[in-house]
Amino acid sequence: MATKEHWTCPYCNRDCTLGDDDIRWCQDHTWLAKDHGHVVGNFKIRICPNPDCRQLSIDANIFKSDQYGNTNKQLYGWHLVPEANAKPFPDYIPEQLRDDYYESCLIKDKSPKASATLARRCLQGIIRDFWGIKKKNLFEEIAALEEKIDAATWNAIDSVRKVGNIGAHMEKDVSIIIDVEPEEAELLIWLIETLFEEWYIEKHVREEKMKQIADMAAAKSAQKKNNASGETE
Ligand SMILES: [Zn+2]
Repeated sequence: MATKEHWTCPYCNRDCTLGDDDIRWCQDHTWLAKDHGHVVGNFKIRICPNPDCRQLSIDANIFKSDQYGNTNKQLYGWHLVPEANAKPFPDYIPEQLRDDYYESCLIKDKSPKASATLARRCLQGIIRDFWGIKKKNLFEEIAALEEKIDAATWNAIDSVRKVGNIGAHMEKDVSIIIDVEPEEAELLIWLIETLFEEWYIEKHVREEKMKQIADMAAAKSAQKKNNASGETE
């Protein structure tokens, strides 16, 4: 039976449907020991079908199995490549912000508190860079943001600010490490992704469109001028 898997490439972020040619398996079956029984280990390798991307994403899995290699329960699973479940963001977003975001994703599961610390620093960096707001702490910066942005976005940011330990420590320096739950770190990461898209990318797309219109208008009026000067010759 032909494989069909809906998938979003972590490199180019494109939604695609993977077929048999895009998924490869390296698999083996072995007996470990009397108290561990049989296992199947495999690498699942996805090849991005987008011709401009073609990057590899690799998962490793170990399953409990019977003596014939029929798997039943998954014992372990790892996303090996790419290392972090971070979305790719364009170069026109400042490098420092993209680095903080990427590292925050990288350590989210292993150290939520370190991840949340980086994410808060990134959030502060976004507000400072994009809106030019610089106050004593992130708490005051978010407060100052209220009059500059739409109510829905501000409410979202303010809600994240109020969640558990994230909110309790907003008034302190962003570099102070605080204990948070993995879900809190994840919420901050999600907020950062949304703000990258809503602010930086939307602004860039709008500017590109406006530039296209201006270029087109310039070309038209140059053409008109040429025609007019042609007529008078
Ligand atoms: Zn891709």
